[in-house]
Amino acid sequence: MKVIKFGGSSLASAKQLTKVLNIVKSDSNRRFVVVSAPGKRDANDTKVTDALIKYYNAYTSGQDVTEVQNWIIERYQSIVNELNLGSTIMKKISDAIKHLASEPIEGNDFLYDTFLAAGEDNNAKLIAEYFSKNGVPARYIHPKQAGIIVTSEPGNARILPSSYDKLENLRDYQEVLVIPGFFGTTVDNQICTFSRGGSDITGSIVAAGVKADLYENFTDVDGIFAAHPGVVHKPHSIPELTYKEMRELAYAGFSVLHDEALIPAYRGKIPLVIKNTNNPSHPGTKIVLTHEGMEVPVVGIAGDDNFVSINISKYLMNREVGFGRKVLQILEELNIRWEHMPTGIDDMSIVLRERELTPIKEQEIITQLTRKLEVDEVNIQRGLSIIMIVGENMKSHIGVTASATKALSDQHINLAMISQGSSEVSVMFVIETAKEKEAVRALYKAFFGLTKKS
Ligand code: ASP
Repeated sequence: MKVIKFGGSSLASAKQLTKVLNIVKSDSNRRFVVVSAPGKRDANDTKVTDALIKYYNAYTSGQDVTEVQNWIIERYQSIVNELNLGSTIMKKISDAIKHLASEPIEGNDFLYDTFLAAGEDNNAKLIAEYFSKNGVPARYIHPKQAGIIVTSEPGNARILPSSYDKLENLRDYQEVLVIPGFFGTTVDNQICTFSRGGSDITGSIVAAGVKADLYENFTDVDGIFAAHPGVVHKPHSIPELTYKEMRELAYAGFSVLHDEALIPAYRGKIPLVIKNTNNPSHPGTKIVLTHEGMEVPVVGIAGDDNFVSINISKYLMNREVGFGRKVLQILEELNIRWEHMPTGIDDMSIVLRERELTPIKEQEIITQLTRKLEVDEVNIQRGLSIIMIVGENMKSHIGVTASATKALSDQHINLAMISQGSSEVSVMFVIETAKEKEAVRALYKAFFGLTKKS
């Protein structure tokens, strides 16, 4: 049994929905379909979810909602018309959209989530109707009925572990089940969404719940590219990635899948594949627990900017018991998240995302390090990027870092810091942001051959 999730761009128009129908039809194991809200039809379009935010803002601030309400209804209407679905389903959808503007505002912590969830909820109804009328008996299932019970954290729900038992019962249905993504219900029956892009999470939860053999996540690209296509011209798509590799790449800027979506599928040991609705015969990228016969040491190269480094020096630092703890405690007390900590004998750098360091916090850190820890020197270095080469097979290959540093030194790129965790899944280089793209291209060329741009 397969769980198949379609993202907003795959569901943006009647034309896209025809592709979706064919994909579902072509494999009778595709039994559970998780859907996003209609996405953008072209670059200038508005996602239905974003229109629902506008609708919510207008409603809660007492403005006239007619225009935005009509825009949303019209968005579904045009799809319903093109697919000849008739007026019954359209009435259901338009009533549901209008009904939002009668929900109580005062003391309603879940109102925003209720508005947003309507995007996927109504799309799921529409799609179930479309499937049923076109040779795929289908049933719309609300997350409450499915058993997707979540914590009461508006906009940031998490699945309750007890949900999984109920979800398993979904296996008993004969029809294809169409489930709206992005939200669940709380124990008190409130609609509560995951964070933005969260339909991926629903897909992963359903896959784990029904113990699927495969979770197929359909988007509008041929899987996950080995480097950012905006940096490297036509990078290849990675045939197979492990969950660990995916996590590393996502951390350093890859964004095909919501990173929280990996957790339920990973825990449930469900393999995942990312495929393209517009090119379904392409094998896409498979995400597996362990590599099945793939030998390459490096699978992808990521780069991300907006990092800063707090560089601290103190003579005989290594002999001072508790020094590291005291430094980290300063950060903890200021509620600062840090990312990496490369060290020397007498120096220590803490690399963090720039957004963590407000000017006030920066000043406080410098004051405390100087006064309390009596460091010899502290400076804050901005404009840094991290570059990561990722691959679990690096463990069993000697010279991977050598190839990387050679490629970077050939481009005269200075390495401010280098770091590799004990798992050897990735090697990270900190460099100045001005050289980030050049570095990614040089590494792509070193590991995968010529980039078409160079
Ligand atoms: N529609 C929601 C969003 O735009 C969730 C999703 O598409 O995954 O964030």
